[in-house]
Amino acid sequence: MRFASLGSGSEGNGLVVESGGTRVLVDCGFGVRDTATRLARLGLQPRSLAAILVTHEHSDHIGGVPAFAARHGIPVWATFGTLAAVSTRFEGMAEVYGFDSHDRFAIGELEVIPVPVPHDAREPVQYVIGDGARRLGVLTDLGVSTAHVEASLSGCDALVLECNHDLGMLEKSDYPYPLKQRIAGRLGHLHNEAAAGILAAIDTSRLTHIIAAHLSKQNNTAELARAALASALSCAPDWIGIAGQAAGFDWREL
Ligand SMILES: [Zn+2]
Ligand SMILES: [Zn+2]
Repeated sequence: MRFASLGSGSEGNGLVVESGGTRVLVDCGFGVRDTATRLARLGLQPRSLAAILVTHEHSDHIGGVPAFAARHGIPVWATFGTLAAVSTRFEGMAEVYGFDSHDRFAIGELEVIPVPVPHDAREPVQYVIGDGARRLGVLTDLGVSTAHVEASLSGCDALVLECNHDLGMLEKSDYPYPLKQRIAGRLGHLHNEAAAGILAAIDTSRLTHIIAAHLSKQNNTAELARAALASALSCAPDWIGIAGQAAGFDWREL
C-alpha cells in the first residue's frame, strides 16, 4: 500500500491511495489540467484512478471533481448529504454513488471506512482506507475531535492529520472576527494542539508515517505544526511530514 498528495490546504486538496491493482483519489480541489499535471508528477495517468472519494462539499475538496471525473470517466463516491448539497453539479454523470456516512464499502482491493466529523458541511466525512494488512487514516476539516474519530484512527499504520492553525497566530491575524470564530469553532478546523491531542489519545504503536496537512498559509508554520505533533509522539520534529499546498508530498510506502 502507498499514498501521496497532490496538494493540501484551503486552495485545493487531493490524496492518492493505492494497493494491489486499485488506486483512488480522495478529493479533487484542482482544475482539470492542474490535477493531471499533479498526478503526472507522481507518475500517474488520470484514467488509472478507480474512484474519487469526496469528503465534503467545500470547494477546496470538491471543486475539481465534476469536471475531472466527467473528462476521464472516473466514478465518484460521496455521502448522500454531500450529493444533496451539490446536486446539480453531478447532473448527467453516469457513475456517482451515494453512501451513508456510517457505512463502510469496498472499491477493488481497498476497504473504505467513512468517519463522520464535526465540520460546517452537510454530511462531512474523513476516511480510514485499508487493504486488509495496513490502514491509512485521513483526517482534515474538522472543528474538534470526537470519541468516534479517535476510535477510528486508533491503530492506523499512517496518518494524514489536519494542523490548520496555531491558535496564537490566528488570534493575532488580521482575519475578520467572524472568520476567526468560524475557523476556531466546533465546526471549523483543527489547531496544532488539538491535532497533537488526538495523537496523545489514540494507539500510535503501529504508526510508520505521520503527515501534517491542511496548514493555513497565514496562521501556521510547518515548524509549529511539526513541534506540536512531535511532542505528542516524543519523536524528532523532522520525522513529521508536511503536506504542502503546491507540492503535496511524494509517495509514502506502507
Ligand atoms: Zn478544506
Ligand atoms: Zn471544509
